[in-house]
Amino acid sequence: MARYTGADCRLCRREGAKLFLKGDRCYSDKCAIERRDYPPGDAGKKRPKESEYRTQLREKQKTKRIYGLLEKQFRGYYELANRQTGITGDNLLRILESRLDNVVYRLGFAKSRDEARQQVRHGHISVNGRRVDIPSYRVKTGDLVAVLPKARELLVIKSALISSERTEVPQWLEVDIEKLQGSVLSLPERSQIDLDIREQLIVELYSK
Ligand code: SF4
Repeated sequence: MARYTGADCRLCRREGAKLFLKGDRCYSDKCAIERRDYPPGDAGKKRPKESEYRTQLREKQKTKRIYGLLEKQFRGYYELANRQTGITGDNLLRILESRLDNVVYRLGFAKSRDEARQQVRHGHISVNGRRVDIPSYRVKTGDLVAVLPKARELLVIKSALISSERTEVPQWLEVDIEKLQGSVLSLPERSQIDLDIREQLIVELYSK
């Protein structure tokens, strides 16, 4: 399946939840879901009937869209989470959070996960002193993630830093804004992931 290239806000309206895909706009009164909290399209105001399957499917779609992933990648993460010890839903979210693009976003070096993915792809980010240009790279406890010197003056990073002042860096990360770098103190517990996701529904969907 091809990557979705339509309007991000339509995805939020489709899922009936804020997915925070557009940086500053998501925190402003321009947020589309604040104005039109019903699905896009002509039939939008008529919400379809709920069913167990539909609820599980929507939760999976919502989570996939928050992290900007395709079905194959997302399913692969679920399979990996299922093979790990512990609670599969918790494992899944921990794996998603440990992606380098997510970490760059969480550290406040990008306004959205999509922007963070571009920064990684363009070679602006290093892990433990070595450039890494793979957004799906998974960080580990103790890793040091930094903006490379030649990218420090980029407008996109500067403006992300200004807007990041309003959002907190999660407890499992530590940021040094002066040096434009951050450390992974530990991989996150479920309680440290501030997303309104019912991961058990995803596990139920894929377990069928
Ligand atoms: Fe979603 Fe952000 Fe658009 Fe609001 S502004 S609908 S949170 S992408």
